[in-house]
Amino acid sequence: MTVATIPPNPGIRFRGDCSADSYIMILIVDDRPENIFSLRSILELHSFPVDTASSGEEALKKAIRTDYSLIILDVQMPDMDGFEVAEYLSGNNSTSDIPIIFLSAVNTEKKFITRGYSSGAIDYIVKPIDPDILLLKVKTFHRLYEQNRELNRVQQSLQSEIEFRKKAQAQIQEKAKELNGILASIPQVAFTATSAGQIDFVNEHWYAYANSFREFPKVHADDPPIEQAWQATLARNEPAEMELRIARTGTEDFRYHLLRVVPVTENGHTQKWVGTFTDIEEQKLAIRRKDEFLSIASHELKTPLTSIKAYVQLVNQLLPSENPAKEFMDRTMVQVNKLDTLINDLLDISKIENGKLRFDLQPTEFGGLLRATLEMLQQIHPGIAITQMGDCHAVINANAVRLEQVIINFISNAIKYAPSSKIEVITRIDDGDNLYFGVRDHGIGISPEDQENIFGKFYRVSDSARNVQGLGIGLYICAEILRRHHASFGVESKSGEGSLFYFSIPLYVPNPHQPPTALT
Ligand code: ADP
Repeated sequence: MTVATIPPNPGIRFRGDCSADSYIMILIVDDRPENIFSLRSILELHSFPVDTASSGEEALKKAIRTDYSLIILDVQMPDMDGFEVAEYLSGNNSTSDIPIIFLSAVNTEKKFITRGYSSGAIDYIVKPIDPDILLLKVKTFHRLYEQNRELNRVQQSLQSEIEFRKKAQAQIQEKAKELNGILASIPQVAFTATSAGQIDFVNEHWYAYANSFREFPKVHADDPPIEQAWQATLARNEPAEMELRIARTGTEDFRYHLLRVVPVTENGHTQKWVGTFTDIEEQKLAIRRKDEFLSIASHELKTPLTSIKAYVQLVNQLLPSENPAKEFMDRTMVQVNKLDTLINDLLDISKIENGKLRFDLQPTEFGGLLRATLEMLQQIHPGIAITQMGDCHAVINANAVRLEQVIINFISNAIKYAPSSKIEVITRIDDGDNLYFGVRDHGIGISPEDQENIFGKFYRVSDSARNVQGLGIGLYICAEILRRHHASFGVESKSGEGSLFYFSIPLYVPNPHQPPTALT
């Protein structure tokens, strides 16, 4: 028997369709169209979307393809009866959860209802159908089905979350094993720690310096304690390096080590920390010996050079101006002065290293200092165009000799590394209480990586170092002098477009209750 004109239902939800706005339908299975019609009318009146099948076979086909919240199943049907359909449905994974309400003609059939079908929700209704009872049952099953589905969904997502975590955990463990294998084979003392900073692996070299793997090696009393630095590094969550002395356990033989700690991140989160202690005692000794040598050599060179300078000046004065040797004496003086500057720089370096670079700060009128310095530089480099932008008669707390040294260094570098380019000297008052001084050139410029290191000791940019002579100590000394002036300083530059070296020094305040002195 076929069902008469039942319009296709727009709300059909096929298996796997999880869209929120699709309805879950009820399937009515009956071989009598009039039964289907009356059931359908009752359900649709209460806004339940309905699908229909006029035989057991059709019902099975539809149930496999479509997601139903409930099947209302006539027991007595030709070919395949309701019980058979129910048995097939319960035996199929994709349909076994669908609750079924049997429609039976007589009450006595009740005993058949559990036949061969024990899983899932099941109920029955006897004909003639009482619409109130039907609706009550349909609503209950519908709700049950929805709850069941939601539970399944939550369970599934929990399951996949657990699977995902298990996999991630296994991957992390595998990586940690690999990492530990590498750390075990390196000559450094090495360790790993959890993201919270607890040490969870140490290689065998560790035990030469520490008694337990939970404690860091003992540090020299004059060096900063590791634990403190370690906590600060964890808080910053960034790689860190520090030099400190550690001794083998049971000895006082402290040797310099470089402690380097690096976070191991995954998806931007720190999973672990890896740390190494590298013995740098030999390098430290070599640096100390070199510093000592430079210090002794520059001191030893300074005394004879001072005598040479004095004698050259004396001879120069004694020579009549028309004497052709005078020109050679002048040239000798230029070279002697260069040598003098070089030796003074080397002496400054050793003074900085030994904490002996000492000078006083006095209220100094910057405009006058700058003018005198520029005049002197123009005399030495008559062909160079130095343009002064702004004229600043500000008083700052400075050491005129040392600040002049910085100005000379900035401008001399501009002359050296930007030959034939215009040089601009900029002075102004910034924010009302700082003197700003800058030297801009349009020369070769400096790359961002080199800018970071340019104020370091003996640092030279490899390209410029090939073409221009220098030791890479001028800016290092400038940085130290500027720090002593409580100045901020730096460089702005672009490769190929020139550089701007600048410093900014607080204006002198004679009395803290008076505004700063600035005459612009
Ligand atoms: P030196 O000039 O004796 O090498 P400095 O400490 O004065 O030493 O400078 C360090 C390095 O910085 C130089 O070797 C050079 O590579 C780079 N440098 C300094 N000033 C400039 C500049 N104005 N333009 C380009 N490079 C510069």
